[in-house]
Amino acid sequence: MNKTICLLPGDGIGTEIVAQGKKALEAATARTGNTLTFTHALIGGCAYEATGSPLPQETIDACKASDAVFLGAVGGPQWDSLSPDKRPEKGILGIRKALGLFANLRPALLLPELAGACLLRADTAQKGLDLIVVRELTGDIYFGEPRDIVVRDGQKVGYNTMIYSEEEIRRIAVIGFETAMKRRKRVCSIDKSNVLETSRLWREVVNNVAKDYPEVALEHMYVDNAAMQLVRDPSQFDVLLTGNLFGDILSDEAAAITGSLGMLPSASMGSSSPALFEPIHGSAPDIAGQNKANPLATILSAAMLMRLGLNMPEEALMIEKAVSAALAGYRTADIMEEGKKQVGCEEMGDIVASFIEKA
Ligand code: NAD
Repeated sequence: MNKTICLLPGDGIGTEIVAQGKKALEAATARTGNTLTFTHALIGGCAYEATGSPLPQETIDACKASDAVFLGAVGGPQWDSLSPDKRPEKGILGIRKALGLFANLRPALLLPELAGACLLRADTAQKGLDLIVVRELTGDIYFGEPRDIVVRDGQKVGYNTMIYSEEEIRRIAVIGFETAMKRRKRVCSIDKSNVLETSRLWREVVNNVAKDYPEVALEHMYVDNAAMQLVRDPSQFDVLLTGNLFGDILSDEAAAITGSLGMLPSASMGSSSPALFEPIHGSAPDIAGQNKANPLATILSAAMLMRLGLNMPEEALMIEKAVSAALAGYRTADIMEEGKKQVGCEEMGDIVASFIEKA
């Protein structure tokens, strides 16, 4: 099978880490006989410098023509003073919109090799952490209208609108249940239905979608309780299904407790391909161009791309196993531990690729 992947390295460490992810993709497909064609396009600050826009039309066209999009990161202090429509981040929001990506999937996995980095108590960390937050990405209070800051009775008031339609909830719930079917078949749906009408509708629609997935165990949890349970015992969770606002907060919390920003991948998906895969961290301008970045979040995003974007689970597993094997002996500076050999970004990419070749 031949598939096309559009590479969007972006800014800062983006080019360094995407190059390592590409090595892993090539090594894995070389083992299975599938082939990949790579296209390249500009996004973020580098796109603004070259074209005056953080998301040129050619980039949108190249993404739409591909089977999956593989993104590094965007941004940097040199673009901080640009107007909002020219800022690098606008490129990411724009490409999500152009591709109709309404679902964000963020796994939080505590690899046994990195248990020491976990922020939780050792006895809690020992129970393990392997969950995925499935977050709605294009609705909720972040986009709801009306919204404004106005003067009422002589003082300013700000307001936003929390709003979800049945269809918006249904389609993200389907992604949540489909994701659970490929994992441990448990969905925990997060809401605040004791006080919010939006949440009451959320719960009603999720219950309806659940009827199509009799094998999946569904529970509902208030968001405040979920925030607490995530630090008390994250091992209880498989798929956390959330709206945009609650998911924004819980996915960062879940990521933070694993303790290593450079290790966490993500996927953004819509109803049709291509989906977009990227590490959760930013462009790390403080270490860009120094061969210091940890490429493993990007390499694990490449594994998600194979599994969810191209339906090539064999390659995905090969990449994930190679990452674990690499971590047993080698570390980049951000996750360095005694007894391991410290390597740079490029070396780590080579080591993972060589474990894939040997697998
Ligand atoms: P950041 O994630 O880039 O960096 C935070 C800290 O983590 C830095 O000290 C950095 O060196 C370190 N770090 C991040 N990734 C690492 C890796 N792979 N290996 C080793 N260390 C790593 O966040 P920030 O500093 O708040 O933002 C920097 C720029 O990135 C800003 O312009 C911001 O807007 C942008 N940003 C982009 C995205 C994205 O492209 N999706 C996401 C977040 C931030």
